[in-house]
Amino acid sequence: MKNIAVLGSTGSIGTQTLEVVKALGPEYKIVALAAGSRDDMLAAQVRRFKPELAALVGKEAAARLRENVKAEKCIVQSGLEGQLAAATWPTADLIVMSQVGFSGFEPLVAALKNGKTIALANKESLVIGGEILMREGLLDRNKILPVDSEHSAIWQCLGSSSSANVSKIYLTASGGPFYGRTKEELEKVSPGDALDHPNWEMGNKITIDSATMMNKGLEVIEAMWLFNLRLEQIKVIIHRQSIIHSMVEYIDGSILAQLGPPYMKLPIQYAITYPERKKNNFNKYNPFGGVLEFDRPDRLNFPCLELAYSAARTGGTMPAVLNGSNEAAVSAFLKGKIGFTSIPYIIETVMQKHTVVSDPGVEEVVGADRWSRLMAGEIIDELMKRVN
Ligand code: MG
Repeated sequence: MKNIAVLGSTGSIGTQTLEVVKALGPEYKIVALAAGSRDDMLAAQVRRFKPELAALVGKEAAARLRENVKAEKCIVQSGLEGQLAAATWPTADLIVMSQVGFSGFEPLVAALKNGKTIALANKESLVIGGEILMREGLLDRNKILPVDSEHSAIWQCLGSSSSANVSKIYLTASGGPFYGRTKEELEKVSPGDALDHPNWEMGNKITIDSATMMNKGLEVIEAMWLFNLRLEQIKVIIHRQSIIHSMVEYIDGSILAQLGPPYMKLPIQYAITYPERKKNNFNKYNPFGGVLEFDRPDRLNFPCLELAYSAARTGGTMPAVLNGSNEAAVSAFLKGKIGFTSIPYIIETVMQKHTVVSDPGVEEVVGADRWSRLMAGEIIDELMKRVN
């Protein structure tokens, strides 16, 4: 019997997680659900999965939910408090973290301090908090099980091998919808173009991150912390088909890869059933399908990747600034306020203005996040004035 809490339960990974749990059968039980503001959707999940706790960030949304699920024996909480309660829920054996962006950071720290095992889909929390967790001895490979497909692949290729035997890892990247485009072409792309990802069905924020390559940049930092690697050991490789989900090269030159169709339910299920594997009805990859191809990333036209490497090298509060300014820029792009190529411009400008705090605690990181959003907001306003 495994009891599971899902944070971000109304998002893309959250809803797929619930489907996976349902299909796995009665040995897997949902005990807590948490989401941002979609009270109708969470109410339906509460009725279906009968959790002990349901939490929404928004106070009014939580009040509506409370009213809506009165008939259920379910505690309803709100605010950050509710998210932290879900992340540390006493009867939960596994905490699935599938929130979007910064909102995953404090719940992740709380869950790890509480000794919980995490199935981590929220890469931003590790980008922001990796250094703090490292310093506090909370970065345990047995406690943070990756759901991100690339990191799940590396985890599976590593098995019980020590990171000391790893020469390098290849993080595969689809290249997103704009692979091969020139800077001039990129200046004209719309949010609709960017949301049309060739392989993966994902939420809006991560889909834009895939188009800018920031998603891969965040994943580089995520891999650095998860697998205790040096930045130089992490190589990004373009693989348009998204069949190989990443590779590990060992010190003897042997390379191991994990393959499968681009389908998030597989890494979700592996993190939930680990250390066991369970049968499922997912589509399987057919290796007779054709040739697998690789290419180098275009670092010039997709500067977000390099910005992420740079933030990781600087460390301290810089990764939080990278992330916060990216979240603000992506949100502005989705609202049609700025162009696609303004995203890396905004992040780079905010990073240049930042005075790094070394060895930050949670408060400093939260402060750097807030500051970076304010700075990004100012640059966005300026850019909008220039256009109008
Ligand atoms: Mg990924």
